[in-house]
Amino acid sequence: MEILTFKSDKDAAQKAFEIVRDGVVSGRVSTLGLATGGTPVEFYKKMRESNLDVSSISTVNLDEYVGLEKNDPNSYHYYMEKELFSHMNFKESFLPNGMAKDLEAECRRYEKILKNHAVDIQILGIGANGHIGFNEPGTSFDAETHIVELTESTREANKRYFEKEEDVPKYAISMGIKSILAAKKIILLAFGRSKAEAIKEMVEGAIDPSCPASILQKHPNVTVLADEEAAVLLKEGITSDR
Ligand code: PGA
Repeated sequence: MEILTFKSDKDAAQKAFEIVRDGVVSGRVSTLGLATGGTPVEFYKKMRESNLDVSSISTVNLDEYVGLEKNDPNSYHYYMEKELFSHMNFKESFLPNGMAKDLEAECRRYEKILKNHAVDIQILGIGANGHIGFNEPGTSFDAETHIVELTESTREANKRYFEKEEDVPKYAISMGIKSILAAKKIILLAFGRSKAEAIKEMVEGAIDPSCPASILQKHPNVTVLADEEAAVLLKEGITSDR
């Protein structure tokens, strides 16, 4: 695991952009795995302000809430459209359909999409509880795309986007940890003191489902781009960048 720390999230986002840009320009990347939430916002800004030609690039997203329409401002479809897709000419973009009548069938459909679009670079955030995607603590490392019940801490963290806490969905469809690990390269972004415990656990803790991100220790190509606050509890081995 390569760990780079930055003064600000903007500098980290620039680095993430440069890695993605180099992959796209060289032709090594044909599918990008994308994430939502507050963390990748600066990265998406760098992407849409660039003149990168992404017309041959497919995208797949990590997750979507169950029960929100695509045009609901809190859905991840809406977020992606607003932050990225309406500004760039991707070849095609996939997210799970959280409105599917048969959610189990939707998980299988999505997993098939992932099998047909092997992710070259996956952008990841991390939850304060160590989750990746919506794979909450306790999720099996062998899970593929599945329906998840969100923990109270995740609903609490995400309620800032909703009018009322009870509006935060209770379920989501998420790529499983096995699906995430299939990516050739993973860039994990983490900003702010609230992520420091999770980052420490991910990097220095035991590989255990109680911290889903800890499994990334086993992935051969992970780059963590953190700001100083998120990296503050790490013991050693940090390379500072910019
Ligand atoms: P955040 O969420 O970017 O909104 O902090 C990250 C995550 O939960 O994976």
